[in-house]
Amino acid sequence: MATRVETSVAAHPRFEPVIGLEVHVQLLTITKIFCSCSTRFGAPPNTNVCPVCLGMPGALPVLNRRVVEFATLAAMALNCRISQDSIFARKNYFYPDLPKGYQISQYDKPLAEFGFIEVPADSGQKKIGITRVHLEEDAGKSLHEGFPDSDEKTAVDLNRTGVPLIEIVSEPDISTPDEAYEYLTRLKEIILYTGVSDCNMEEGSLRCDANVSVRPRGQKEFGTKTEIKNVNSFRFIREALEYEISRQIDVIESGGKISQETRLYNANEGKTYSMRSKEQAHDYRYFPEPDLLPLVVDDKWKAEIARALPELPEARRARLVKDYGVTDYDAQVLTLSKSLADQFEQAARAASNPKRVANLVQGELMGRLKATNLSIERSPISMAGVAASADLVESGAISGKMLKELYDLSFDLDKDFPEVYEQQGRPVQSTDTSALEAIIDQIVDANPKQLEQYRAGKKTLLGFFVGQVMKASKGQASPQLVNKLLSKKLG
Ligand SMILES: [Zn+2]
Repeated sequence: MATRVETSVAAHPRFEPVIGLEVHVQLLTITKIFCSCSTRFGAPPNTNVCPVCLGMPGALPVLNRRVVEFATLAAMALNCRISQDSIFARKNYFYPDLPKGYQISQYDKPLAEFGFIEVPADSGQKKIGITRVHLEEDAGKSLHEGFPDSDEKTAVDLNRTGVPLIEIVSEPDISTPDEAYEYLTRLKEIILYTGVSDCNMEEGSLRCDANVSVRPRGQKEFGTKTEIKNVNSFRFIREALEYEISRQIDVIESGGKISQETRLYNANEGKTYSMRSKEQAHDYRYFPEPDLLPLVVDDKWKAEIARALPELPEARRARLVKDYGVTDYDAQVLTLSKSLADQFEQAARAASNPKRVANLVQGELMGRLKATNLSIERSPISMAGVAASADLVESGAISGKMLKELYDLSFDLDKDFPEVYEQQGRPVQSTDTSALEAIIDQIVDANPKQLEQYRAGKKTLLGFFVGQVMKASKGQASPQLVNKLLSKKLG
């Protein structure tokens, strides 16, 4: 959430930043986009290759149907309009890890356009436009370390060539580094919900480049932009943008000019460095890929794909608040991943009282997680454990006080609730009827006035008696049993 107090960059009196983001997301298909080679990460170098992805003359690409379905699903989740016809194009450039000398991408007719993501902003929600979502193949990888003579040689691993990517290009609607951070967080969350990518930044399944410029406040035209490439965490992107925005303002204020260039972020120093001057789009000499037909996603196919669209995080949060009475904050935490939200709902539905599960998550689990600085994914008590504990309280088998103790123990031992409950020899509540009846007699005798009122029809006083008995039993009595015995005694 945009709670950080922004440093000079967002609050600068004379300049405002303009930011656009390009995100590459690797799709989780088993095989590559134009051949049947495996996409598995971490295979020995140059083992997942064939004439097609090596770019051998005469080898022909065949489009992977699943890639189109995944990309379309992601684009739908990002509120895009899916084009019925899109065209693959050759993007020509030379690079050692690109044996074909071109990359198959999409250019003037992308798969999807006109989407948006909503991010929290000071004035409520802000829509960040998505210009386009297009399909492309990944290039290979130059290796500069990790093999014997890496001090004097560079090696090339082509396992990654032809791995399917979508590129998601935002409109230059982002005005602060914090908004960029929020946009990326939402984007990743949405993509993860669709299940089309694991968005693992360490393995390069999600990569982000940022275009940033500054302009005098109130001016319509954009300033000259720089592109920050290959930053490997959202936090670093925010830092890189903060640095780059101040740098640009400094250059302009001291009478200099921004040159259009690609810059790299050095996270250790917190600075960006010029890498190369930026090629213009026409340098790539895009032209339609002659070996592939136009891609047609017709209404029928679109409808089929749309059936796989899950409930997305924003909608799910709203529903959790409505259905289970959790707070906005808890709904946020519970929907961090789809699997967590699924677990919660499964637990809530399996338990005899869903609301109690929500209450336990909110009242007992979240606080302990916060206190022990654990994420909910690392919680010793699983959602199934919460559900089990909720049912035990519900049935009167354990008291609220015992539940708290067992939760503490679960956290101390780093074990799930059911295991701790078993280990503790199922701390049986006082179900010793005679002992309980003695307590009840005492309480009833000690409160003749309430007894009279109760017998005169003020039935709500039962709660008062139950409370007194529970207190006298130091929370050890089963509320159910107390209820039963009390009702009998009071008549
Ligand atoms: Zn291949």
